[in-house]
Amino acid sequence: MFTPTALTVVTASPTRQCGECTACCTTGGVLEFDKPSNAPCKHLGAAGAGCSIYDHRPGSCRQYTCCWLAGALPEAYRPDKAGVVFEFRTETHIKAYLLRADVSADRIEFLFQKLQKSVEKTGRQLQLEITPPGMQCQVGSILMCEKNAQGHMVSTREATLEELSRYPEHLAEYQQVRARVEGCQTEVAGYRALEINCP
Ligand code: SF4
Ligand code: SF4
Repeated sequence: MFTPTALTVVTASPTRQCGECTACCTTGGVLEFDKPSNAPCKHLGAAGAGCSIYDHRPGSCRQYTCCWLAGALPEAYRPDKAGVVFEFRTETHIKAYLLRADVSADRIEFLFQKLQKSVEKTGRQLQLEITPPGMQCQVGSILMCEKNAQGHMVSTREATLEELSRYPEHLAEYQQVRARVEGCQTEVAGYRALEINCP
């Protein structure tokens, strides 16, 4: 389960650049204009054109760093090429957003093991959540999961409000994030992370 807001768990490697990749413009949630995760951003230009508001993109986009950009995955597996965006949701919770349905389980496992190795010295045991392509989640909400045959979690659907209320910490976060989204839409000047006018 996860909350699609900006991440600061890892920082970008000085030797990596996003280049032509815009994968997280689909997979990521954007709080400032309430873009759900796993839905193409309305500011994405035509194929290959990238972000149409790049110089004015909101803080969520500026802060976002996937595991590849952080240098934690091999160079050849940039998300748009690998078909999967890995991100740290917390220090131990890894998300894998599949961009295409044909990404093999072996590839996912290979890359997850690379990430596990990258934290080996800390003794941390990572947990993987795989989210199928197109499975949307409202900013602030969470995805319900089931374990697959390899013991990894697989997102199944967005939680209902009733289900959220069974997890007090998630419900509190949900309410907090939704209040910030609302504040962004109704009180632009007061929103601390805002860098563009909310459409
Ligand atoms: S998915 Fe990673 S490499 Fe691709 S645009 Fe986003 S941060 Fe950059
Ligand atoms: S605003 Fe730009 S950088 Fe942010 S998600 Fe949309 S297209 Fe990507």
